[in-house]
Amino acid sequence: PSEKFEGLRRKIFDDIKDLSYFVKNNLLKLKNDSLLGKKISLIEPNFQDRIDFLLIQLGNLSNSDNLGEWRRMESEFLALELQKEFYQLQNPSDCDRQKKVICDLNKSCGFGCQMHHVMYCFITSYFLNRTLILDSAGWRYNSDGFEAYFRPLSEKCIKINEYGVEWNGNQYETADVIRLPIIDMVTQKPEFFPLSIPKKYMDTLSRFHGDPFVWWAGQILSYLMRFNQKFSKIVEDRQKKSGFLRPCVGVHVRRTDKIGTEASFHDLNEYMNHVKKFFDLRDLEKSKKHLRRVYLATDDFSVIKEAKEKYPNYNFIMDELNAQTASLNNRYSPESAQGIILDIYFLSQCDFLVCTLSSQVCRIAYEIQQTRYPDGSWRFKSLDDIYYFGGQLRQNVIAVLDHIPNTDLGEIELRKGDLVEIAGNHWDGYSKGKNLRTLKDGIFPSYKVKKTIDSF
Ligand code: GDP
Repeated sequence: PSEKFEGLRRKIFDDIKDLSYFVKNNLLKLKNDSLLGKKISLIEPNFQDRIDFLLIQLGNLSNSDNLGEWRRMESEFLALELQKEFYQLQNPSDCDRQKKVICDLNKSCGFGCQMHHVMYCFITSYFLNRTLILDSAGWRYNSDGFEAYFRPLSEKCIKINEYGVEWNGNQYETADVIRLPIIDMVTQKPEFFPLSIPKKYMDTLSRFHGDPFVWWAGQILSYLMRFNQKFSKIVEDRQKKSGFLRPCVGVHVRRTDKIGTEASFHDLNEYMNHVKKFFDLRDLEKSKKHLRRVYLATDDFSVIKEAKEKYPNYNFIMDELNAQTASLNNRYSPESAQGIILDIYFLSQCDFLVCTLSSQVCRIAYEIQQTRYPDGSWRFKSLDDIYYFGGQLRQNVIAVLDHIPNTDLGEIELRKGDLVEIAGNHWDGYSKGKNLRTLKDGIFPSYKVKKTIDSF
């Protein structure tokens, strides 16, 4: 199939979901009217069933005529090629003569944020054709460093005695060894920064995957987060003891220090509504009732109790110790590292994720999840942000239809072909952004634009 065909199919899928957000949001507003309320409560499930059936049929279409098999082969082939490339770059024939990048793991933030920092270092070393040396001495989670859980990034180039020249974002840098600052300090962002993907893989990747950067990110994490032998055993053991099985939905509830600073509070009920939707759809598709298994990870211990009490029809798999450790004020300990690595791993192994993409825990689980499916770009529901990478290049969407705005509602005008810098999705049928032609900020119907993909 052409990119046009696959792109159109995915756009229809997104537009159906967008239509359901739009209608349900408006029905919710009308529900407050006591006369209409009852009637609407009858219409709503009927409407949801119709939407679900459309999505199921579209899902079947996406796998018909061997399309599913084609997608699987393309993604497996590309993954092998990339992993080989990563391995070769990390294990050059002559380590002494190879140009290098030094990356300090110990960015002063949480595990997810630190792994994204290493991912940005890896992307930089990839595009500059250098070997990445990870400096994890004095790591805030574990003084034994990165290798307490993961395999070293290289078998040959591990330590280095030089500090290196501080890098400023120059993509033509010639110094033998460069040391990377955190991404926010790079003022002249090179074109290979997220969400760019390698040009040579653009054609293939944009055909088989709905969000190519996330797939590319998953491949990088797959190389970076290779469990060492000792930790592999711990994961295996945990899997057996917890009874983790599929199908399951991964739910991550991020609270504590994040609330009111970088994210809003969301009640467990909001997450569970989407879990219910996932299983309803699955039951309808397979014409049988599935056990409703949920892997629940959280940094708020009270959520564990609430889940058990309020949702007896769900089979929760959760590591209470992880949640307890994460709820502590000082979360930087080896126990805490083990807890978050396990939680991220099991979340990523689920069929679907419900979380807040404002959290790097949710983003990393979503990225790793992509290594398990040819196109898993639709397998999540974020209660807040759309996908992004901290420090990314500006992200634009392109208008596919004209839009005459209702300025009273804060809408902006669109003309087919306009580029709009995207700020977010309100999940009610509207997105927010800035039209780069008119320089006006505001909302517009989400279905009137489509994604653009950057490559380098
Ligand atoms: P963000 O702050 O949510 O964007 O993600 P970070 O990973 O950068 O920082 C949050 C940190 O809080 C994590 O790395 C963990 O140490 C802890 N944490 C948050 N949520 C969880 C969770 O569900 N399980 C565990 N075990 N730890 C968590």
